[in-house]
Amino acid sequence: MTEQIYQVAIVGGGVCGTALMYMLAEYTDIDDIILLEKYDGLAKVNSNGRNNSQTLHCGDIETNYTLEKATKVKNAAAMVVNYTETLPKRDHIIFKYPKMVIGVGQKECDQLRARFESFKTVFASLELLEKEQIAEIEPNVILIDGEMRPEPCVALAVLDEHSAVDFNQLAESFAEQAQTVVDKNIQIQFNSHVGKIKESEGLFYLETELGTIKAKSVVVSAGGHSLLLAQQMGYGLSFSCLPVAGSFYFTPKVLNGKVYTVQNDKLPFAAVHGDPDVLVPGKTRFGPTALITPMLERYNRQSFFDFLRVLRLDSRVVKVMWDLMKVSDIRNYIFKNFLFEVPGLRRWLFLKDVRKVVPSLQLKDVRFAPGYGGVRPQLIDKENKVLMMGEAKINPGTGILFNMTPSPGASSCLENAQLDMNLIADFLGKNVHQEKIDRCLHK
Ligand SMILES: Cc1cc2nc3c(=O)[nH]c(=O)nc-3n(C[C@H](O)[C@H](O)[C@H](O)COP(=O)(O)OP(=O)(O)OC[C@H]3O[C@@H](n4cnc5c(N)ncnc54)[C@H](O)[C@@H]3O)c2cc1C
Repeated sequence: MTEQIYQVAIVGGGVCGTALMYMLAEYTDIDDIILLEKYDGLAKVNSNGRNNSQTLHCGDIETNYTLEKATKVKNAAAMVVNYTETLPKRDHIIFKYPKMVIGVGQKECDQLRARFESFKTVFASLELLEKEQIAEIEPNVILIDGEMRPEPCVALAVLDEHSAVDFNQLAESFAEQAQTVVDKNIQIQFNSHVGKIKESEGLFYLETELGTIKAKSVVVSAGGHSLLLAQQMGYGLSFSCLPVAGSFYFTPKVLNGKVYTVQNDKLPFAAVHGDPDVLVPGKTRFGPTALITPMLERYNRQSFFDFLRVLRLDSRVVKVMWDLMKVSDIRNYIFKNFLFEVPGLRRWLFLKDVRKVVPSLQLKDVRFAPGYGGVRPQLIDKENKVLMMGEAKINPGTGILFNMTPSPGASSCLENAQLDMNLIADFLGKNVHQEKIDRCLHK
């Protein structure tokens, strides 16, 4: 029997790896693909519903995005909405909630009013809400004991669009759809930790506990571990990884939809927000915090050693950290986020932040959510000595790609998968069914 050589091997069964498997299976003539996942199921790490904010980022209420970035994110998110349109289990994957970003105080209100003028051309359903209108949708954001809160408030809101996703269910559906494509060999192998990838004479050898998998091309979508595997092969050595964990807190149900706050533009991480948890009815979830943490995977102590390997500490990494710490807003924010993890203190401190969203919340209402939260693998570009914000890709041009996907990586999973699909199809000399993609995903 000849040993199987796959056309594509994908490492990582999160929402990004499964999105790529779906794109390759459905929209190319590549007909044998294997996905290797180290755990016994899909989406157990950052794509799990407990570990991210479940937001379909569309760019309309994220005040840290420029109009250009917001337009790109909008198109990427639309692919997810379009993909789910014909799925029988759509109601378990994607959800409609009102969403808004609130400005509190004159400065933030002025900022949102100005933003509305430039963003409404791209986001036709964006509305500018005054205090009374906000109170109709989210009474707890505006009212304290039946009275209006004293500060000026406005909101930018989108009230009737899909705004939340269970990215775990989305990953499951990608895998299901890919495996129903007829006449193709699409496999998922669980409990297959890829320890090393070797490249020899035009083939890649992926070493797992269950044996070595051979493939003509490889895409690694393994979060921070993508960088580890890249660096083992001598790629991406000019990057270091700064893992930023996010924790969450629960309160009783105080919000009807997603309520974001205005981003401090000196801070590289999203401001705290509150929203319904699609997996925990009757509660509101607040977060995420942003804690620099020495682990590539939350709650996996083994990943401390992996972190040390990808940190590649040198003077350039220290310079980036030093530059971050020099900005007082960032320094205070980093310290505050450390304190958010200190039992006893954390609820009290966090309460101060979430009262910006719901001013009547009391200490007894706020509960730390143990076991919730993931890690954003933020990269440090050592050559340019900067902390990179969005997704990063390493493409040495030899038929292997490595993806590192912090937020909004889950919302952009299909867009990123389309990019990878084009690169891999091109490398293998295979065809992409572009007309079908345009018809199904870019309506
Ligand atoms: C606190 C927080 C909030 C977030 N909120 C949002 C949000 O609201 N909206 C949004 O769009 N994005 C959000 N994100 C980002 C989003 O979660 C990620 O972009 C997305 O889940 C990344 O998907 P992935 O498939 O690349 O990675 P993951 O979901 O982490 O999957 C990687 C997979 O690779 C596997 N793996 C790792 N190493 C190996 C190996 N050596 N061999 C085999 N398998 C391996 C892992 O087990 C895992 O299954 C958030 C992230 C965090 C941390």
